[in-house]
Amino acid sequence: MEPVKPAIYTAEVSSVVNMAGEFYVTRFVLAQPKEIQFQAGQYVIFLIGPPKGRHTLSIASAPAQRGSIDILQSVAPRGGGSTWLLALKSGDTVQFLGPLGKFTLQKESKRPKVFVATGCGLAPLRSMILDYLETSGTARVTLWWGLRHETDIFWQEELDGLRKKYPNFQYTMTLSKPVDAWMGVRGRVTQHVVGETTELTHSEFYLCGSRQMIIDMKGLLTDNGVPSEQIFTETFF
Ligand SMILES: Cc1cc2nc3c(=O)[nH]c(=O)nc-3n(C[C@H](O)[C@H](O)[C@H](O)COP(=O)(O)OP(=O)(O)OC[C@H]3O[C@@H](n4cnc5c(N)ncnc54)[C@H](O)[C@@H]3O)c2cc1C
Repeated sequence: MEPVKPAIYTAEVSSVVNMAGEFYVTRFVLAQPKEIQFQAGQYVIFLIGPPKGRHTLSIASAPAQRGSIDILQSVAPRGGGSTWLLALKSGDTVQFLGPLGKFTLQKESKRPKVFVATGCGLAPLRSMILDYLETSGTARVTLWWGLRHETDIFWQEELDGLRKKYPNFQYTMTLSKPVDAWMGVRGRVTQHVVGETTELTHSEFYLCGSRQMIIDMKGLLTDNGVPSEQIFTETFF
């Protein structure tokens, strides 16, 4: 699909949901234009007025949704953008510019796809994963998602549902600061991905989250023979 020209959209907040911890999912129903066409992985810039003015957020919903977009926001930073989001109520009108960005899925490639996110970095990856699986993508899809605590976990049911529905999808959630009793996977994503990916050098990697995670992960992948052309990144902060 050719990239769509960015435009200003007016939208209405339809829901703001605290998913877990500091993570919120907000749905914006488009008013004008009434639909948006974008490539999974792209972002929008909300025009939020002073003092911050603009707030950049990835689209977490699949492109097939068209009439609305979902945003996943970590409000932990409590900067202008988080404060703006926390004040939104259903029925509020907002404006954003989009779609923007080149962090998009290589849908035609047959390479196994490995998605690596920390925290809200899952947002554009969720859009890509939903888009790929729901449009009959057949390559193996693996998601590694790093969170800190058990209390941060959300979307587990959805991910379990996808794993059940699509045999080519697997995911692992790993906690960097779990309680002693945590029975699941522990540690940072960087401790797992290289050692636990089959066909490492043949796979395609999509990394999203903090600058440090991306630097560390990219270094590990290239040191282990993954060509840099097979690594796609989006740095949030
Ligand atoms: C292309 C792009 C897409 C993005 N998509 C998303 C998204 O989908 N969801 C999302 O929550 N954020 C996303 N971000 C980050 C977002 O733009 C904000 O920086 C972030 O949401 C915090 O906004 P803020 O105004 O509250 O704080 P800011 O004033 O932006 O940041 C305050 C401080 O917190 C740091 N910071 C920013 N985000 C985090 C974080 N998650 N955890 C810890 N420290 C942080 C910043 O580096 C800064 O030092 C994206 C950024 C870019 C460039």
